Amino acid sequence: MKTKDQVRKYDDTQGEMLDLLNSTQFIIKEAVEKLGYSDAMYELLKEPLRIITVRIPVRMDDGSTKIFIGYRSQHNDAVGPTKGGVRFHPEVNEKEVKALSMWMSLKCGIFDLPYGGGKGGIVCDPRSMSSFELERLSRGYVRAISQIVGPTKDIPAPDVFTNPQIMAWMMDEYSRIQEFDSPGFITGKPIVLGGSQGRETATATGVTICIEEAAKRKGIPLRDARVIIQGFGNAGSYLAKFMQDAGAKVIGISDALGALYDPEGIDIDYLLERRDSFGTVTNLFKNVITNQELLEKECEILVPAAISNQITRENADRIKAEIVVEAANGPTTLEATNILTKRNILLVPDVLASSGGVTVSYFEWVQNNQGYYWSEEEVAQKLRSKVTESFERVFSTAQAYQVDMRLAAYMVGIRKMAEASHFRGWI
Ligand code: GLU
Repeated sequence: MKTKDQVRKYDDTQGEMLDLLNSTQFIIKEAVEKLGYSDAMYELLKEPLRIITVRIPVRMDDGSTKIFIGYRSQHNDAVGPTKGGVRFHPEVNEKEVKALSMWMSLKCGIFDLPYGGGKGGIVCDPRSMSSFELERLSRGYVRAISQIVGPTKDIPAPDVFTNPQIMAWMMDEYSRIQEFDSPGFITGKPIVLGGSQGRETATATGVTICIEEAAKRKGIPLRDARVIIQGFGNAGSYLAKFMQDAGAKVIGISDALGALYDPEGIDIDYLLERRDSFGTVTNLFKNVITNQELLEKECEILVPAAISNQITRENADRIKAEIVVEAANGPTTLEATNILTKRNILLVPDVLASSGGVTVSYFEWVQNNQGYYWSEEEVAQKLRSKVTESFERVFSTAQAYQVDMRLAAYMVGIRKMAEASHFRGWI
């Protein structure tokens, strides 16, 4: 589909670009240039408009007090309020939160949602904290950021290691501060508190629809297609189930500890029953291979749904899939993207493939604002239209400009933000 000269060039004398913020800025610059916008536009978009760092004192169960560090980044609010998840992870850092908020802007632009991008994070390890400690931390975070968030300012949501319960505590804390019920302050809530049908499975559903669209364009029937999924968290585990339901053969899955591989197909229902709440499942098996070995197995569809920088210039030549769909954030480096593109492997980028979650979050917020709730079918049908339209927008942009799907997605994502910034008289 692509020829050599469509592949992008950059200075690799510094080694492979593994830093998410640098690579995001690099592609934003390319996209801004391709679209013919000014340097000032790049200067506006290359960093968030604002980011705050907060220190959150939390009383621990043993009576001690621990100070946690949190961030909230708001990339661009020209289109509307900012939107994006909050992650709880020991490796959260300011640079990552910035880059992730920029990705949220792109996702919202690609999916034509009336938002800019935001993102939050707390440096902590929820796997070693009690539920009471997590509740105090979640409430403390909301108190610390309450002035810059809100249903018409910046709307948080779940992300890595945060869930509907945490959203519920945060919503309750915000409502107490404001002294009125504010369901539209946060999305990904439990259904009884104004959550939307289909939110829990939304990311995996979005990835599934992207796989269907990519397979159609590659002429690969989904039935009996061999699928490998790296990661068994929210996205990976539901996706494995949806692929199995679609008649595909899931021959590999993995978690943070290792990977399971069986060319005859893996029984996903069995794994789903046994996974813990962090998606760990391989500890139950003896024949475990490494995540890196799994990525290189032969299959039609490969879905990295775990962490960043998994497909790099070291292993991109050995990837044996026909389609790579990124359900994680940044699993493929820029150089690896070039290598896959040269090898005619269709790569569906993260900012397109992993936007099912924020799309149903948008539906949740709309329902909260109107106080009228939709059925599961209604949500599913609206999500399907959004994903297929967005996929087509990116695919046709890739063809029109003769660029890979990642650059095309950035171009689509930036266009609306740039136009809104222009009409507001910012630039
Ligand atoms: N954390 C998810 C994402 O990165 C969802 C964000 C949201 O629902 O606002 O896309």
